[in-house]
Amino acid sequence: MNLDFKDKKVLLRVDFNVPLNDKFQVTDDTRIRRALPTIKHILKEGGAAVIMSHLGRPQKKKNEDGSINVEKFTLQHVVPQLSKLLKGVKVMFCPVTVGKQAKEMAKALKPGEVLVVENTRFDAGESKGDEALAKKMAQLGSLYVNDAFGTAHRKHASTATVAQFFKPKKKAFGFLMEAEIANATKVLNNPERPLTAIVGGAKVSDKMLLLEKLIDLADNIIVGGGMAYTFFKAQGGNIGNSLVEDDRLKLANKLLAKAKKKKVNIYLPKDSMTADDFSPKAKRAVKYSKRIPKGWMGLDIGEKAQKEFTEVILNSKTILWNGPMGVFEMKPFAKGTKTIAKAVAKATKKGAFSLVGGGDSVAAVNQMGLNDQVSYVSTGGGAMLEFLEGKELPGIKAMKS
Ligand code: AMP
Repeated sequence: MNLDFKDKKVLLRVDFNVPLNDKFQVTDDTRIRRALPTIKHILKEGGAAVIMSHLGRPQKKKNEDGSINVEKFTLQHVVPQLSKLLKGVKVMFCPVTVGKQAKEMAKALKPGEVLVVENTRFDAGESKGDEALAKKMAQLGSLYVNDAFGTAHRKHASTATVAQFFKPKKKAFGFLMEAEIANATKVLNNPERPLTAIVGGAKVSDKMLLLEKLIDLADNIIVGGGMAYTFFKAQGGNIGNSLVEDDRLKLANKLLAKAKKKKVNIYLPKDSMTADDFSPKAKRAVKYSKRIPKGWMGLDIGEKAQKEFTEVILNSKTILWNGPMGVFEMKPFAKGTKTIAKAVAKATKKGAFSLVGGGDSVAAVNQMGLNDQVSYVSTGGGAMLEFLEGKELPGIKAMKS
């Protein structure tokens, strides 16, 4: 962040899209904490921060009369937690995002103070990348810092368009954004080998581009979670009632053939923990993943798969993990994901570089308290996925012109 912040008003885009409980209290403040180094740096260097972020999807969940549900989506909900974390700093809230009141409050800020403006998505122009809105946002500061990696894959007014109103020397990435880019780049460019990618989660279709890219990049690809069964069905296996995307069977075979040609090892879970219902109370049995009886479904990887995957992970020098190995939200089907998380932590201890990116695998690592035992935990689900797929993210691109 090579900017002179002294006596400057700094327009800072962060990702404070945090989960709230029904009393609108923040239940996981990870994203706020991860933005603190940037905020504190700006304040310490004599600047004042005008913070903007989105929270939820207020345009999609409007009141019956078509108005914004302010009570639910106001960014004011994050202010108590932010104030607590910024102990001793004056944190104010502005009930509008842009316009006269926001400009006046920003102008009145003193060095070392923070102003949080209202949810950027209250204005429909935000998601459209509206120029007029971005111009009004730009009036709130003389410098622009983007630290919102979690939203960098969106070409929105506050994440991309606004950057064009600041000259190259008046804008910069925040520390979080820099770290996210540096760590993902470490996996993409000249990784230490073997490089093992662990891909899980529900659907092949969501991770298709990632898998294609990984076949060019990785030495080993471990596939777990619901998406594995599309591969098994494509190979002629019986998968019972397991999750499947019938319109991706050809694609699954194409990916397997491409991997074989490129001599990339693909590991599918040989066995699965199956259940007779999608429920934590269902009857359970371990089965070969290619031989799941009718009426049963694979909801987690089995012991054989856990053993094989662990071995591959422990022999890796670079590890990328995106997506859970099973329905880890239900305790009886969380073992596979937990075992993999432990293996990634162990490999890291042995000297491997590990990057965990993508909402659910991050949640698994956090739940197990292993977040400080992997090399880097990304704050960006979709953004990290797109970065790894090799796409240039609009939030990053906008800072370059
Ligand atoms: P994703 O957002 O694509 O990473 O997918 C995460 C979701 O996939 C989680 O909610 C898991 O419960 C779900 N999932 C993982 N494995 C399975 C499975 N075998 N069957 C059904 N859903 C699964």
